[in-house]
Amino acid sequence: MIVNDRITDYIQSLETSQGPVLDEIEKEALDQFVPIIRKETAAFLRTMTAALKPSAILEIGTAVGYSALQMCRVMPEHCCITTIEKYEKRLPIARENFHRAGESGRITLLEGDADVHLKELAKKGCQFDLVFMDAAKGQYLNWLPMVLDLMPKGAVLISDNVLQDGDIIQSRFAVERRNRTIHSRMREYLYELKHTEELETSVIPIGDGVTVSTKVR
Ligand code: SAH
Ligand code: MG
Repeated sequence: MIVNDRITDYIQSLETSQGPVLDEIEKEALDQFVPIIRKETAAFLRTMTAALKPSAILEIGTAVGYSALQMCRVMPEHCCITTIEKYEKRLPIARENFHRAGESGRITLLEGDADVHLKELAKKGCQFDLVFMDAAKGQYLNWLPMVLDLMPKGAVLISDNVLQDGDIIQSRFAVERRNRTIHSRMREYLYELKHTEELETSVIPIGDGVTVSTKVR
């Protein structure tokens, strides 16, 4: 937890059910140790989606479809989500979950590596007014230029897990060796988000740390 555990528990205790299907999907995901967004991050994502009223959303990291379905709850009727996942075991589960929620029609699941799909989407000239980045943390920095190409001015990029359970403030040497590369890449990513001319970025310490960046030019 990044902020005081009692505050986090309290914030989570305020959260309301998003319906039986999402409750079940959440429970199944947690039972299977699928790293879905936390309750307070889900509320944040829904709130941003409701406020922005996007017409096209891109998600990098579908897992079993939980966060995509959270956005579906509040996005405009005509909005579509394109979501990318490369882990084969999760693809049929995500598909099934979209079906269970009656959202197969509004969600397109792209199977395979985000690297490949981001290039394809750019080639096709696709544009997204909301992007949710929630996949391999070590890749965020590499994907950023491609993601920016897919965002028109005014579009918003939300990135999850940017504070690494608080590890981000530790010195590189206090972080477990296997996490060091990700640790420095995430610091570079945050630096980049704050120093890229086209972006205005806020770092928010909820869940596992979230950033919101809007493309201002
Ligand atoms: N957004 C989901 C959780 C995503 S977990 C939710 O909150 O419900 C991160 C997912 O990103 C994992 O399922 C992982 O397989 C996927 N992933 C990691 N690297 C990827 C890559 N290079 N291309 C596509 N998917 C990737
Ligand atoms: Mg996440």
